Amino acid sequence: MKKSELDLRVDQIVKDTKNAYDRREKKLKKILKEAERAEDVYVIGRIHHLLSLCYFDLGSRNKILPHAVKAVDIFEKLNDKRMLARSYNLLGIAYLAQGNYLRAVEYYNRALEKTYRQKKPGIRRDVMQNNIAECYYLMGEYSTSIRLMKKCFSVIRTKRPNDHVNAVIYAINLSDDYEGMEQYENALETLDSVKPDVELLARDVLLWGYYARRCCVLYKIGKLEEAASYADLTIEAINNGYDSYEFHRDFEKIAKLEVRVGDYERAQGFADILTRYADTNGHTIDKIISKRVQANICIARGESDRALALYKELSSLYEKRVREQNAIQYESQKNVEAASREIANLMNKIRASEEKAERDPLSGLLNRGALINISSGFYQSAIEKGTTLGGVFLDIDFFKEYNDTYGHAAGDDAIRSIAKACLEEENGNVRFFRYGGDEFLGIVLGYRDGDLEKLALRLWERVRTSGIEHVKNPNGQCLTVSVGIVNINVKNSDDTVLDIIKYSDKALYHAKSAGKDDVYAICTAKQGELEYRRLVKP
Ligand code: GH3
Ligand code: MG
Repeated sequence: MKKSELDLRVDQIVKDTKNAYDRREKKLKKILKEAERAEDVYVIGRIHHLLSLCYFDLGSRNKILPHAVKAVDIFEKLNDKRMLARSYNLLGIAYLAQGNYLRAVEYYNRALEKTYRQKKPGIRRDVMQNNIAECYYLMGEYSTSIRLMKKCFSVIRTKRPNDHVNAVIYAINLSDDYEGMEQYENALETLDSVKPDVELLARDVLLWGYYARRCCVLYKIGKLEEAASYADLTIEAINNGYDSYEFHRDFEKIAKLEVRVGDYERAQGFADILTRYADTNGHTIDKIISKRVQANICIARGESDRALALYKELSSLYEKRVREQNAIQYESQKNVEAASREIANLMNKIRASEEKAERDPLSGLLNRGALINISSGFYQSAIEKGTTLGGVFLDIDFFKEYNDTYGHAAGDDAIRSIAKACLEEENGNVRFFRYGGDEFLGIVLGYRDGDLEKLALRLWERVRTSGIEHVKNPNGQCLTVSVGIVNINVKNSDDTVLDIIKYSDKALYHAKSAGKDDVYAICTAKQGELEYRRLVKP
């Protein structure tokens, strides 16, 4: 069949724009309009196919799919087996880019089918097998993936020694499999074996993909300096060229490993690249990866406020991702569970690091910085479970006089001994904070009124029986505290954490006004009117 004039011009564009995909995209878009006017369906299909491929080569995750769909549609109608094999493959690539692995495998298999018994197949079978293996790898099926990849790799090495591009792609993927199975030496050996091919490469993306892969493996086997030099090469290559989503999973791995060895600066380099990509190419997957990396760095750096803000963003991104996956009905349940596990892990990490960073050195209690984070977590749980959230406010009586009488160091000891009593009441649902100089605040999740009252009385009793002398205290010449508590079912009220602090403080103030060394509960049940109840039996 003779090629149409438009078709020949498309050939020329492809020839003229080798490795210049931005220019190719512009020219193709222009000629697409002409082809549409001329109603040259084959050429229209071909242009869509090339555009889709262009976006893949440009690493624009979101733009591949629409053109691949159009190409498939046209070549199905024309029943062109060669072009169908290619565009099915591209559709597979497009679904892979969307994180829809099952669909990707489906279309890769269709492409493979179209190559059966073809003298001139549209696409090489080992290329398809490599793509299918990648899906299995991404679904965590390393043993299937490695079996396919070993075959691909040996085919290319023996039958096509001059196909450097695919050799490097296969080596990268095979090393991924080895790494997945913790066979790091094999991973490195595979990468070493294509070093000469890498030097002959003309494709930037593959080049830094190879660097990144090497970097990952080197970190895993503890060759930190060499790994760092490959990390720098990768970052440099991207900052001077262009970026693609293809190796971002490796970037995330690298950044995590760097955080682990304390190399925050390099980790930040990757985080910046990921953020830049997410901001411009904006698929949810990219946003999740970039925020996850950034949160990891923030946690390690002890920037808990930022980490928490990122975690909140992540949380809604995960929800968005779940919605997207539901829409394409892809293994949604498994991913929801993985996502919520990831959230839970992250939350635990954030909590652990906050608690380390946010303790008051004198008393060992959590400080006010930690109060908002922790109490808002408690508040959420109370709302979800429909349980109570309580506050216990303690303040040392006549503490100024204590300092004046016994000295500041003795005052510090007194604070420590009260803090110790508070810490002994702590558990997963009870946390104590040093609220001010001689003020202590406990936030209590899910205690019944009676249990909260007992807790408050225990603390009050413990201080006054601890045998710390305080001659200026008219209430028994020993160190005492005043205590105020409140317990609220937050789901059934408008009250927030701040209200709980406010009410327990009011109850404390009431105990102070009533003569100190006392425990009062505040009752907020009656509309607007507050009622105080003395808990110490006269
Ligand atoms: P009240 O019974 O009404 O609570 O009177 P108070 O004297 O205990 O309360 P006030 O708030 O007037 O004074 C608190 C004192 O606590 C003032 C300050 O010197 C002392 N203080 C605050 N922080 C520390 C600290 O870290 N170490 C010591 N030793 N004293 C502290
Ligand atoms: Mg006081």
